[in-house]
Amino acid sequence: MGRLDIKRLVKDNVRSLHPYEVKAYPCDIKLDANESPYPLTLSPRVRSEFNRVLRVLNRYPDPEARRLRGALSRTLKVRIDNILHGNGSDELIYYLITTFGGPVMYPVPTFSMYGVIAQALGEERIEVPLDRDFDIDVDRILTAIRRHRPKLIFLSSPNNPTGNCFSQERILEIIEYTSHHPSLVVIDEAYQPFSKKGSLVHFIRNYGNVLIMRTLSKIGLAALRVGFIIAQEDIIREVNKVRLPFNLNSISQAVALAIMKDSETVRSNINMITSERRRLFLEMQQIDGIHPYPSDANFILFRAERVDAIFNGLIKKGILIRNMKGAVDGCLRVTVGTPRENTIFLNTLKELSG
Ligand SMILES: *Cc1c(COP(=O)(O)O)cnc(C)c1O
Repeated sequence: MGRLDIKRLVKDNVRSLHPYEVKAYPCDIKLDANESPYPLTLSPRVRSEFNRVLRVLNRYPDPEARRLRGALSRTLKVRIDNILHGNGSDELIYYLITTFGGPVMYPVPTFSMYGVIAQALGEERIEVPLDRDFDIDVDRILTAIRRHRPKLIFLSSPNNPTGNCFSQERILEIIEYTSHHPSLVVIDEAYQPFSKKGSLVHFIRNYGNVLIMRTLSKIGLAALRVGFIIAQEDIIREVNKVRLPFNLNSISQAVALAIMKDSETVRSNINMITSERRRLFLEMQQIDGIHPYPSDANFILFRAERVDAIFNGLIKKGILIRNMKGAVDGCLRVTVGTPRENTIFLNTLKELSG
């Protein structure tokens, strides 16, 4: 009896994909995934929210996540109908590409999921290189837009893995241009809370083709999987059609809501991270052979001569960062940790670069 070759049944675009792998390196100091180093402790209020949902685990979650979207709408000063909730922003990227299809355009290097999800859904990907300063190359992008007519353009600002915000004038040029050659521009603000440059949420008032994407993952709640898009109501209404009914579980809804009300702790953790980012950057600049790029996010991209030796040397000391080989050759990316973690990282980096 012949063995069934399951791959023959798989769609072509899926067959050539690789699963998103996070290699398990046993490391005490985890600076690889842009998480917050500060677990948000359960205040009495969060604890009581948590206990309340634990008593109704037999019931489906609120499919509309009304209370959570309501809280966010007050924070962002938009209407609740301008907000759609996702199981992390990753799920929302999935929904956007499912709803609008391709071509899907994005500058590179950037967050890998735009391309991965486009491929999983069998949509064409158009990758346009950033300029030398990791900013948007407007001429190239506008040319590519004319040529390929993308349905969706993803702009991560601050950008992962380069750390910089794109210049607002260039983002606006793309938005203005695509309001006539219809494309939707998705501004992924996963790292916006770490940036001094303001959010572009207000763009949604004036532009019917702009979406803003936010997440709680990088500000201390990665485990909950809570993300949002903010856009004009007609866009939200269409994307909401492909949303799975109970995509955001009750525990995540309740804990996210309670923690949003405790926003001072979140804010002070962010302040700690941005002040440590500055220290890390300045100290890394002093190390021979290490060239950090300025960052508006909670991580720093840096160039080094022997990236593999540094990456492996750090792992031997129990410190995990990200080797950007393949995405930004010759570079590594380190997430800002606690002051103690950053000091250990810096000392080890100095030894390895000496
Ligand atoms: C981490 C990251 C996300 C993923 O966010 P989730 O809400 O955890 O799915 C989205 N966009 C960018 C640019 C990221 O770096």
